[in-house]
Amino acid sequence: MRIDSGKYGGLCKCGKEHHMATRTCIIESGILKRLDEILEQEGIDGKRCAVYGSNTWSNPLFTHPKAEQEIILQSEGLHADENSTAEVLRQLDSNVELLLACGSGSIHDTVRYCAAERGIPFVALPTAASVDGFCSAVAAMTWKGYKKTINAVAPLIVVADLDVISRAPAYLTASGVGDVLGKFIALSDWRIAHELTGEAVCPVIYDIMKDAVAKIWDSCLDTLDGDVDAFESVMYGLLMSGLAMQMMGNSRPASGAEHHISHLIEMRPDGLGGVNSPALHGEKVGVGTLIASRVYHQMAEIEDISDLVKGYEPLDDGWIRSFYGERLYPTAVEENRNDCLAAVTPEAIVKAWPKIREIIAEIPSEEEIYEKFEKLGAKRSLSDIGVPEELLPVLVQHSPSVRNRLTLMRTRRMLKLS
Ligand SMILES: [Zn+2]
Ligand SMILES: [Zn+2]
Repeated sequence: MRIDSGKYGGLCKCGKEHHMATRTCIIESGILKRLDEILEQEGIDGKRCAVYGSNTWSNPLFTHPKAEQEIILQSEGLHADENSTAEVLRQLDSNVELLLACGSGSIHDTVRYCAAERGIPFVALPTAASVDGFCSAVAAMTWKGYKKTINAVAPLIVVADLDVISRAPAYLTASGVGDVLGKFIALSDWRIAHELTGEAVCPVIYDIMKDAVAKIWDSCLDTLDGDVDAFESVMYGLLMSGLAMQMMGNSRPASGAEHHISHLIEMRPDGLGGVNSPALHGEKVGVGTLIASRVYHQMAEIEDISDLVKGYEPLDDGWIRSFYGERLYPTAVEENRNDCLAAVTPEAIVKAWPKIREIIAEIPSEEEIYEKFEKLGAKRSLSDIGVPEELLPVLVQHSPSVRNRLTLMRTRRMLKLS
């Protein structure tokens, strides 16, 4: 399968010009063996450096691309952060003109950041259907402990070899499914923000994302039988999700309340009592999705919200300091300085409430999502991802403060809920 992604760039019916750097995505069995031919066809040349996770380096199914330089990062404990990027930039020869990202989501985010730093392009060679960010232009980084999306570059092309991807450990695929099913929440948050403040929603990007989620919802269980077509569908959904983020220029279509729960856990603020979850990004997002679905559906049971709304109040500076701790305080306070919730009025919530309830009705219930995750063998509770269950109320209440983005979860600060 070939996704001719270049066609998504340019003037859109939403009135905006969408930028699309990724020309093509190819998802096929054995395609890595034809990489040189593909790069030549695309006119992509120059001195190459392949950046590997050590697991990919030693994976016998992964055909090593030709490259003048190779950099291998230890897969164990690898994160896209100031250390992984510094290591690549330190080793990288000054005359390299093209980077090849060989491996996981963390390798891709590390390479995408380094490519931006060096002002050179990169090609994505994902090895598992584990995450949706392969063709995003923003890098999901943990920067000095704070979970951030940093503007970087999108891959010129993506070459996804199904021989490798379909034989990746099943928990990696389950993680990618969790990442994408989170879009049920993210897309709802986007529409709800539109109802509350008039925030623009691009119908084209919205539909691409909706289609990506539907593909994965329908085909994810068939991956259990090793069905290569099912892996192709899942990979298609993951790549389309990344392309939609690229068109948007930020992660709005792909990240809402469910990602904020995941980000808060990853950042390890003092208020979570030193919890250190070993779970993958998509595993945490999957659990965040179950939590958000439950909370949103419970909220939708309220028919008349008018007695429960209250005026906006900014977050208390002292609270931010004590909850996030000294290490994260400066970034957290900056993130909440121009709080997007300040644009919401109690009247707007009352007026939008019937529409918000309709939007929530389209989100699959916690039970439906749970059933999929159970069959897939995906993580589905806080304790599954190494987080004590008693932290649930803390996560629900405080996760929105990790990112200045309007979600229904953030709007709860203006509701008197028990
Ligand atoms: Zn548009
Ligand atoms: Zn994600």
